[in-house]
Amino acid sequence: MCAANPAASLRWDDRPGPSAFASATPLRWAEMLGAGVRQPRPARLHEPLAVGTGKLAAGLRTLGIGTASELLEHLPTDRRELQPLCALRVGERVTVAVEVRSLRAHAGHGRRVHSRLEATVVDHTGSLRAVFFNQPWLARRYVPGTRLLLEGKLDAKGTLGVWSHALDPAPATAGGGAIDPSSAAELAITRDHAQNAAIAHYPASYGVTSTQIAALMRELRPALADVLEPLPAAVRVGAGLADRAAALAAVHFPDGEQQLAAGRRRLAFDELLLGQLLLLRRRAQRLARSWAPPLGQRASLSADWLKHGLPFALTADQHTATLALDADLARPQPMQRLLIGEVGSGKTVVALYAMLRAVERGHQATLMAPTETLAEQHAATLTALLAATPAPVALLTSSTPAASRRKLLSQLRDGSLPILVGTHALIEPEVRFGSLAVAVIDEQHRFGVSQRVALDAKREQGTPHVLHLSATPIPRTLALAVYGDLDVSTLRSLPAGRQPVLTRAVAPGAGRRNAYERVRSAVAAGRQAYVVCPLASDSNDSGQLRAAASELARLASAELAGLRLVLLHGQMPVRDKQAAMAAFVAGEADVMVCTTVVEVGIDVPNATVMVVENAERFGISQLHQLRGRVGRGEHASECVLISTTHPSRAPRLRALVDHADGFKLAEIDLELRGSGELAGTRQSGPDSLRVARLPDDSALLQCARGHAEAIMAADPELCAPEHVLLGDVLKATFGARTRTRLAA
Ligand code: ADP
Ligand code: MG
Repeated sequence: MCAANPAASLRWDDRPGPSAFASATPLRWAEMLGAGVRQPRPARLHEPLAVGTGKLAAGLRTLGIGTASELLEHLPTDRRELQPLCALRVGERVTVAVEVRSLRAHAGHGRRVHSRLEATVVDHTGSLRAVFFNQPWLARRYVPGTRLLLEGKLDAKGTLGVWSHALDPAPATAGGGAIDPSSAAELAITRDHAQNAAIAHYPASYGVTSTQIAALMRELRPALADVLEPLPAAVRVGAGLADRAAALAAVHFPDGEQQLAAGRRRLAFDELLLGQLLLLRRRAQRLARSWAPPLGQRASLSADWLKHGLPFALTADQHTATLALDADLARPQPMQRLLIGEVGSGKTVVALYAMLRAVERGHQATLMAPTETLAEQHAATLTALLAATPAPVALLTSSTPAASRRKLLSQLRDGSLPILVGTHALIEPEVRFGSLAVAVIDEQHRFGVSQRVALDAKREQGTPHVLHLSATPIPRTLALAVYGDLDVSTLRSLPAGRQPVLTRAVAPGAGRRNAYERVRSAVAAGRQAYVVCPLASDSNDSGQLRAAASELARLASAELAGLRLVLLHGQMPVRDKQAAMAAFVAGEADVMVCTTVVEVGIDVPNATVMVVENAERFGISQLHQLRGRVGRGEHASECVLISTTHPSRAPRLRALVDHADGFKLAEIDLELRGSGELAGTRQSGPDSLRVARLPDDSALLQCARGHAEAIMAADPELCAPEHVLLGDVLKATFGARTRTRLAA
């Protein structure tokens, strides 16, 4: 199933590293080593580290490190996490590999003495200013030409505030900038570089540097002998994996690219396997324990509604989704299906179909939305879509008046009210259904596990079938990693007649002048427009970035003079925001100058032009969401992305220009950013991958999924001797999430 790995024969060599003896403050490990043959004693790994109570201990604590085991699990930076300088975004934690070009020291002054060392650093995609605080001696170490790994945060001016730094242990890559061998300083650095070649770079924190962590790790090297091998031999051999202790050794004490890759592969496999085991266990337990009313085949109510009740035909994806629902609902086990489709892809229609399938069998259905506004919108939409169908819809939120609420609750209990739409108000204990068979959760990631469980409990016997809706398009591989316990349907094609939004990326100057010409001519034709800025108002830090408030003032007396402009950003008082929205919706304003607050909730079909300032500062999915605010009516629409970065250096903007499909854009985003953060995905799953990288590790994920399925099929409780250790690790990793299921 999985390709054997050539470097899999890697073995941990049990000899202690020299520093374990040389250290002035030896850890207990070193003492124990004198005793000849060692028996692995895994319990020792969970004893506290002997690091005292000072700054170092506190620093380690902020990193979640208190024991040897936790230190060994603190993995060094993966080169695959490195980002090109051209792709960095303000406010994000980033790791980059760069070469120093020049350095400038600023002495501190005043009462609190801070010194700043400013370096200009480059990679093959661009340059950047990096600032080191209070480490003036670095000026002698990091001379021009030094290659560094830097971790830090980019401020609004585009300066990288460095949190941790280390010499880059990797050999120079093509295009990384050649070192001039004629310089004496360069030679010194090359020597230094060689000495440090085997030092991994660790995520650090205040109080503890990467170098200190590396030193501790060397002290702890003998403890690797106590690391247990949790994988059954059959899996390890089948997937061609290094053993776990060897993998940790290879990652912490890199000795060649091949070993490092084999080590990472093993650790990534463990992470993916545990995630899949958790998801599959969850799914198996749900199916084994619960019962849901089988709803048989499609009956006349839903069939007639599809044929005559809808003012349009279903798209191919909608049709496929309804067939999948039919198969789920016919079973006596609760459906757990996730329907993923962008805003406007027609999820509501599919959800309503599932609800009618319950109603036509004499059961009830409910739809839960995260906000009152959304719930109201849904109630109105469902009522309109059911105009010719005898299925009344009621709305329940926290602002439902007491009298209507009482009446509604009694109708709900006796079963005479078939469909209830609401907010989380509908999971309160007083809300009881006669027979709830289908529950739809809109924007599922906005609800917690407990809220979903409460909804399950709304059925006295067994649980309802559940359909989760998500508007965040994610690639297939990610769906498996994050939603592996759910069945997934996707709505990829948009309903016919939707106008594609013509998108262009332009430079400031002529490009900007032209963009505002487009705005003027759209307004002259009776349309409206958005101008989106990255900041709400100017601050000391805004640098090159445009702020909505000052942009509005500028545009009013320049490019957009004479037009009716309105301001909208998140820092305005609620009343002013509402007034601004109302004015724009009513057509009393021509142009809305705003921040990303327009990403959500504004629907003005008459708006046909969007101009985005400093577009290089936004992410792909964010720009895609923004762009979705235009192209909502009958008129052709366009989106102009103004960026100081040349399009060839801005793959994100290129992607927006070339693609309208949110799923395609999500794939590109994943490729450019890696899966470190899975935006918009739910919190209850194994949602952050530390070692594995998607899509790079897609094949490994498939492999782990296959092994997880086989293990679950053979031994669902993980109690066979070869699975016991795996069960322990699963429990230790996911704690409370597995406690009720895995016998403690
Ligand atoms: P979502 O919930 O996915 O954001 P909606 O279900 O609200 O999307 O649908 C968006 C709009 O598209 C609605 O006005 C809906 O009536 C319409 N719509 C849905 N399906 C189709 C279809 N197959 N053909 C034409 N219009 C459709
Ligand atoms: Mg919707």
